[in-house]
Amino acid sequence: MKKIIGKEKIFNFLINSFRESRVSHAYLFLGPEGVGKAFTAKLFAQFINCENRKENPCFECISCVKIEHNNHPDVYWIKPEEGSQGIKMEAMRTLQERIFLKPYEAKFKIFVLENVDYISEEAANCLLKTLEEPPGDALLILIAEEKERIIPTIISRCQIIKFNPISRDLLERFLVENYGEDKRKISFYSRLAEGSIGKALALLESDYLQRRISVLERLLEKREFNYDLWGKERDTFSEVLTFLNGIFRDAFLKTLGLDELIVNSDCRELIFRIASSYTQKEICNLIEKFDFYHRLIQNNVNLRLIFTSLEMDLERELTKE
Ligand SMILES: [Zn+2]
Repeated sequence: MKKIIGKEKIFNFLINSFRESRVSHAYLFLGPEGVGKAFTAKLFAQFINCENRKENPCFECISCVKIEHNNHPDVYWIKPEEGSQGIKMEAMRTLQERIFLKPYEAKFKIFVLENVDYISEEAANCLLKTLEEPPGDALLILIAEEKERIIPTIISRCQIIKFNPISRDLLERFLVENYGEDKRKISFYSRLAEGSIGKALALLESDYLQRRISVLERLLEKREFNYDLWGKERDTFSEVLTFLNGIFRDAFLKTLGLDELIVNSDCRELIFRIASSYTQKEICNLIEKFDFYHRLIQNNVNLRLIFTSLEMDLERELTKE
């Protein structure tokens, strides 16, 4: 279950406004990076459109699930294009078209706009027009870090919600509860993250990637199967398998000379090594194995059994001459 941390007051304020029908047409979520602005926007969108709404969104109805996966037709997430900081005019034109359409399946259309402090001038003017007369069934949530960079006429048309950094204690407690394995490491990351849950999660994520790479390196170099690195939970085990599957699929593409289709480009060196050490048939066999064990995990087969059987299989496949 998703949890909001350190922002309960904000969330309660938002849901109370909604319950009492005094929700604003536009909010400006203001605060440093990674302190829960986008997270809260999503949660609020889920709450508004939830089919079993109580204190919180249920996270299980179709609407909640679609919003979670960013594919709800009435919740638009407008981000800058890759490589640019601010939202461009084209995205704003799409917003202007969609905001006057009827919602597809929800009561409200929700538009979340990221990096509004870096929006282009032309797009800002367009946004301003939209803010002047938004239709009654639309809600805009603007997300930004620096108030000074936003034109005052935009600010004055929004209700400002300030997001402060999360205290280190709270952040640490959250990380231990949700990702808690190594308390020393988590304490170190909490300090580095300076109150930003986004930063802390990114640090943990890069650590996980590193760990997955070590799983692979050990497998390839020493044929070593280290349970600690695989993680003893169904979820982490399944993630490692998905990772290995992706790497071997990339290696297969490499053997076909389709380098440009390689997905895990941060593991290029390992992928090339696999492609040059194993034949296409061997790589395909391994991919099938990973798929097979992945299905077993999903079917709730005992993890210990899977470990043992996979170990024997990999031993055999990887040492083939
Ligand atoms: Zn729901």
